[in-house]
This record gives sequence, C-alpha cells and structure tokens, in this order.
Amino acid sequence: MNIILLGPPGAGKGTQARHLVEERGMVQLSTGDMLREAKDSGTEMGEVVADVMARGALVTDEIVIGLIREKLETVKANGFIFDGFPRTLAQADALGELLEGEGQTLDKVVEMRVDDEALVARIVARSTCGMCGEVYNDNTKPIPADGKCTNCGGSDFKRRADDNEESLKTRLMEYYKQTSPLIGYYYAKGMLSRVDGLGAIDAVQSEIKAVLDA
Ligand code: ADP
Ligand code: ZN
Repeated sequence: MNIILLGPPGAGKGTQARHLVEERGMVQLSTGDMLREAKDSGTEMGEVVADVMARGALVTDEIVIGLIREKLETVKANGFIFDGFPRTLAQADALGELLEGEGQTLDKVVEMRVDDEALVARIVARSTCGMCGEVYNDNTKPIPADGKCTNCGGSDFKRRADDNEESLKTRLMEYYKQTSPLIGYYYAKGMLSRVDGLGAIDAVQSEIKAVLDA
C-alpha cells in the first residue's frame, strides 16, 4: 500500500511516518529529509537548495521529483509513505505518473488537520535526535533529563535552521498557496481521508491505523 501523509509543517507527518515504518515495514520517503541530507553532504544540489530551505520557500518541482523518481526506481518496498511530497499540483501529477510507470498505485491520502496556532507552538519547540531522527518537543515530549535519546541513546540534538518564526511564516504561506489545493485534488479522486492531528501521538496513530485498515 502506498500512502501520502498530507498536512502543514508541524502537523506530525514525520512522527507518524516513523511509526508506520516500525509497525508495518513501510518505507518513508521524506523529501525534506532527502534535501537536508543533500545539504549536509555538501553536494552541488545541496548548496543550491540550502538557502531556499532556510527561508522556508519551496525547492523546484524538478529537483524534488528527480529525488522521488530515483527512489521509486531503486528502492523496493512493501509500501511507501510519502511525507512532505507532493507539495504542488505538478508534483502530484508527476507522482501519479511515476507510480503508474512502476506498475504501482497510490492507495490513500491522509490529511492531518491541525490548527495554525498549534503549528507555530509545536515547531518552535521542536528538536530531533542527530543520530536516529527521533522527534522531541520542549512541551509535550522533552529530551530526557539524562540528555540521552530514548530511542538510540544518542546525546546530540538538533534544531532545524528553518524552525524559527520567520521561516515558519513562509512555510505556512507556501502550504496554503501551493499545497492545500492537493486536498481538493485527492478528494476529487476519492482518495482523501482526514485525521485530527491535534491529539496525542498515540491517538493520531490509531486514527491513521483505522484509515489504512478500512
Ligand atoms: P515541514 O513539513 O516541517 O515543513 P520538511 O522537512 O518536509 O518540513 O521540508 C523542509 C523544507 O524542504 C521545505 O520548507 C522546502 O524548502 C523543502 N521541501 C521539502 N519537500 C519539498 C517538496 N516536495 N517540494 C518543494 N520543496 C520541498
Ligand atoms: Zn536517537
């Protein structure tokens, strides 16, 4: 089964994708993670996108579609979770074509709904483990007092360069202008399901499970 987790920055897509990877052996394809890796590894493409990402703007369709195409052609999985992709209508069309080319289908699109006030509060409080990517939140899931990641024991935590109020404004605007039309697009294709992204991590997880098993 191939699914998209759709929602604004801070909706919890990455956190839920990680659970699905653990529980169902699906493969998470996060264009945000791929772009950050490209940036950290100092590739030419990484240099081009670093600035765009720090501002909270969208990287070109050409670049992200290229990243996804490469994964779909090389990774064999018993289900992909698209996280942070597609973000534009052109990306959505491209994904449909790429999957078709691989003889695959897109099965569900899960929209994670969260109100804007909550997003800002979540994002400015967010950090992740530098070793395993576990996500922490100063208010709801603080880094343990011993300073060690509960998942891997690592002690190096990072805050994203774009997790500040200024970039966040741009990211939210991009979401409403470019990505939110995908809600209508997938609704019209009969693929859309909605979950309440405001609940506790476990509650959201069970809502998603119900959608996938329906
Ligand atoms: P979030 O969902 O928290 O905003 P992501 O990690 O998905 O974060 O993405 C971080 C940044 O990477 C985006 O703000 C954008 O600059 C870039 N990016 C990620 N995915 C895409 C995409 N599909 N299209 C264009 N830009 C993207
Ligand atoms: Zn960790």
